[in-house]
Amino acid sequence: MSSRQIRPTTATIDLERLRSNLEAIKALVGEDVGVLCAVKGDAYGHGAIKVAQTLQDAGCEWFGVALVEEGLRLREAGIHVPILCLEGVGPAGADAAMRSRLTPVLYDLDEAERIDRAASRRHEPCGVHLKVDTGMGRLGVPLPDWEGFLDRLTQYRWIRVDGIMTHLSTAEAQSTTVTDEQARKFLEAVRAARSRGIRPTMLHMANSAALLGYPRLRFDLVRPGLLVYGVHPSPDSSAQVDVAPVMSVKTRVLFVKDVPPGVGISYGRKFVTERPSRIATLPVGYADGYPRALSNRGEVLIHGERAPIRGAVCMDLVMIDVTDVATPVRAGDEVVLLGEQGDQRITVEELASHAETIPYEILCGFSERVPRSTSG
Ligand SMILES: *Cc1c(COP(=O)(O)O)cnc(C)c1O
Repeated sequence: MSSRQIRPTTATIDLERLRSNLEAIKALVGEDVGVLCAVKGDAYGHGAIKVAQTLQDAGCEWFGVALVEEGLRLREAGIHVPILCLEGVGPAGADAAMRSRLTPVLYDLDEAERIDRAASRRHEPCGVHLKVDTGMGRLGVPLPDWEGFLDRLTQYRWIRVDGIMTHLSTAEAQSTTVTDEQARKFLEAVRAARSRGIRPTMLHMANSAALLGYPRLRFDLVRPGLLVYGVHPSPDSSAQVDVAPVMSVKTRVLFVKDVPPGVGISYGRKFVTERPSRIATLPVGYADGYPRALSNRGEVLIHGERAPIRGAVCMDLVMIDVTDVATPVRAGDEVVLLGEQGDQRITVEELASHAETIPYEILCGFSERVPRSTSG
């Protein structure tokens, strides 16, 4: 933690749990399957550099980033294992990516042309992973265009196809129909590549949900993100692998007051006290990534008990009702927004459900204003 931190709000990243989560995933998939940890979005809000350094030391074989910039930052921080640029490297990124040995995902012939030119300038072949769209509808060569794409790709002599990948749209769903269909199309796409003499050494498609739910789709490499950070993609996956949440967020009470019935709390008076109440104000709000959608819905932990949010979450402040908390609440008391206190816990799944979003968005949402500190 920076010695200059004055505010009492901190996100703590438990590096010991991060390591043991990776170990649990590696034990599950076995030695023959590599693990690429998704560290895009500042490692899902956990702080990409410390996370990647820790995971690299713990034996992570690959990292996945969204942006070339994210990959360059990792290289500057001493990350030496392969880094896959999941969105490709873009018109401005080919040279920088190659200089820093970032591996592009490739799904576009204009990009192939640029990468080929950059590689030929360097007299060094560039390894890429081809992406085929088998049903995600986001990035990847559309399946009907795949064979034409492969035929044109052979003209780029400086491009070496190391991998072929796709991405699943509904791996966490109960029904397996869509995933099975995507898997079938993927294998068809791989066959089409092999029949043209392309010999990828790495096939991959499994995110966290798929590596748990579809062991046969682990192929050569799995690409977990959420699971690495200790969050289960669905409630029923928790029996399969023992991971624990890496991030917790704490603050301290800023102000406490006793109010009579009939007092409006926060903007819009969306909550009005119905009884004599003890209301605590916390120095955290939506500018910190604590969602405004938690207004009148979320709970926090204080003195090991749950206390409900009252009224609208403001930009920098939020009010909680501590009337029923047994231990008298004072300014300076510790409050857990995410994580454990006593035998209570607030999970990211709980916050996401109150805020009507997904755990990913909650984790990525904690803003730069919340200092990250590490433990373990
Ligand atoms: C983010 C991402 C992943 C990781 O997904 P999780 O659901 O967090 O496991 C895997 N593959 C690709 C292409 C991604 O963009």
